[in-house]
Amino acid sequence: MGRVAAIKMMVLPKINYLFSMIPTKPPQDWFRSLDSYMSKFLWKNKPPRISLKTLQKTKDKGGLELPNFQHYFLANRLQFISGWQKHTLLDEPWLDVEQALCNNLEISDLPFISSNIQRHECFKSINISSSLTAWWEFLKLTESSLIPCKRTPIWNNPDILQNNNMINFSDWSSKGIKYLEHILEGTEFISFDRLVTQYGINKKRFLEYQQIKSIIKKRFKPGQVELQTPPSVVQFLTLKTPKLLSKIYRMLSKTDESISLPIAKWEADLSVNFDQNFWSQICLKTFHLIRNPSLQLIQYKILHRVHYTGHRMFKMGFTSTNNCSHCQTNSPDNYIHALWFCPPVQKFWREICEDLSKCLKCNIPTSPLVCLLGSLDNVTTEKNIAHMVFTALCIAKKTVLMNWKNKNNLNSNQYRNYLLDYISLDTASATTSDQFLWAPLISSIT
Ligand SMILES: [Zn+2]
Repeated sequence: MGRVAAIKMMVLPKINYLFSMIPTKPPQDWFRSLDSYMSKFLWKNKPPRISLKTLQKTKDKGGLELPNFQHYFLANRLQFISGWQKHTLLDEPWLDVEQALCNNLEISDLPFISSNIQRHECFKSINISSSLTAWWEFLKLTESSLIPCKRTPIWNNPDILQNNNMINFSDWSSKGIKYLEHILEGTEFISFDRLVTQYGINKKRFLEYQQIKSIIKKRFKPGQVELQTPPSVVQFLTLKTPKLLSKIYRMLSKTDESISLPIAKWEADLSVNFDQNFWSQICLKTFHLIRNPSLQLIQYKILHRVHYTGHRMFKMGFTSTNNCSHCQTNSPDNYIHALWFCPPVQKFWREICEDLSKCLKCNIPTSPLVCLLGSLDNVTTEKNIAHMVFTALCIAKKTVLMNWKNKNNLNSNQYRNYLLDYISLDTASATTSDQFLWAPLISSIT
């Protein structure tokens, strides 16, 4: 976890500086080798036990928010797309230069034109082309399509052709009719009479109205679906400075909504079935209910089931028996057996739960859901108690892991010593209001 923070603080700013200065996208190999260095650093040159993709997820999705460099590259490029939309304010001098390259096109319209824009003069500008390429990648990630949408420009748009030429009726655009939303309402074309009264279009231009109608009808076939702007695009366009880069990055990391936890294995082992929200909360509790990073890491690793069990060693060919050697039950030494069902471990958990229930005057059931996953909703609603219970249970898990290879050595005295060590450290660094937090537990242990 400290190593993830080190990457965030030491590596990310340097890479981000490069991305902000160099508009071209580095080759995939470059990203791959960067990721492989990160992986080696995180796992100290040992084989990774949790994939980089999982670690890059947000904390509620089972990740550690490790930087995703590809997304940071995209976010850097997408900042320009956001800047183009503010062109009217003329607050950025570079916009003028880029607008000049677009000739008769408005720079703010570029994102709403299909990849046909590649044939346009402006695409020769490296900044415009790399930003648009990033934008198309963003649209792909968010599964949104903009062709057509409310904001599709009508004039000088290479997507809207008449006899292979773009159309541009300057009288219409000067009166404020620029996008499809100005001539279409729902699935219907707005009538010519209404355009005349609303925008002051000259009545003699009826023929042009018919022309536009037939071209648009032929190209986009409106009437079947109502024009929309995809929600992710609307959300993107509302993002504003300051911290625009991290806002865009956060939006990109939210595009993958799946939770990366071995949920199916947990549900099979515990014979339960929960919705995504439950698992998301379980992930978050690891970081909300506990402050100590090394205990957070223990809980995080347990949720991801990274520890090697006898069963796993057997499958890899390192041991000759699949069964647990610490007890006489002849059960396979799998994750849930090693962490919960093995008799010496069971006995340990029972003692811990009784002990904690007595000290904190609440009922902590000897259940893997509470002890292993840390689902405390049915135990207590009081934040301080939840914090104490969660911490104590994490220390109990630390004790189990310390005796992983010889479970018969497991005893609650060792747990109490770890707990006392932790409490003395915590109170030493705590604010005065937290000084007495641990009082009910200390009096019962000592
Ligand atoms: Zn056993």
